[in-house]
Amino acid sequence: MKKCSNTHQIVCVGNISSIETMGMHDGPGVRVVIFMQGCALRCLYCHNPETWNMQETKQQYTPQELVQKILRYQPYFQHNGGVTFSGGEPLMQAEFIYECVKRLKKHNVHVALDTAGVGTLHEPLLALCDLIILDVKASEETLYKTITGQKSMQPFLQFVSKVQELNKPLWIRQVIVPKVNNSKHNIEHLAQFVNTLHNVQKVELLGYHTLGVDKYKQQNMAYPLQGTPSLEEKEKQELQLYLQALLKNKKSAY
Ligand code: SF4
Repeated sequence: MKKCSNTHQIVCVGNISSIETMGMHDGPGVRVVIFMQGCALRCLYCHNPETWNMQETKQQYTPQELVQKILRYQPYFQHNGGVTFSGGEPLMQAEFIYECVKRLKKHNVHVALDTAGVGTLHEPLLALCDLIILDVKASEETLYKTITGQKSMQPFLQFVSKVQELNKPLWIRQVIVPKVNNSKHNIEHLAQFVNTLHNVQKVELLGYHTLGVDKYKQQNMAYPLQGTPSLEEKEKQELQLYLQALLKNKKSAY
């Protein structure tokens, strides 16, 4: 987050990659989805590498400007829509988002945070959010490190522990990639992990796709999963059913 000051106050400015105004996939109802710039992870399957580097920001907003823009879409939210802060990784700009959410809550806007859980552990922000959409890269440490390029799983686990302490509603997501994590063993491990959590409202597997490959070419970057096919819908559904059977009582896989 860039900070600029004038004579009276510090104004925080958010670095934003893009804004989707009628999103239907990242939280309940119709949503404005704010894709924040910046991410510390380097997921093998990332299809948004243009969001990694904070210096490559396309748009900047103050909290006031962003909230004003969001509120223009409020009539579309109806009873269950709202705003989702996604990325990149929104926790890279937690203070800016906090400033936005404080203003949004004054207008009773539902706020979701779509995160991989690695960034600033900003408790006041988490306390204000209505929903955490948690992107579980892997629940087993070795696989987590392989997929994310991270040296440790601890920041993710600390984040999970904090949102549990705050009793925040959770939607769990995991991207399933052929030959990387499409094994029954991985699904069993994920189910075990989810079964330790409370307040889980939804568990969703997402199929890996190759739509991001061209972005790597455009940026002269090697694509880590070169040659890996998209996950077939049939296989995804089978794995979801398998997961569903392993989840204890209340959780649903979609
Ligand atoms: S967390 Fe998301 S944006 Fe960051 S590298 Fe992974 S898939 Fe890409």
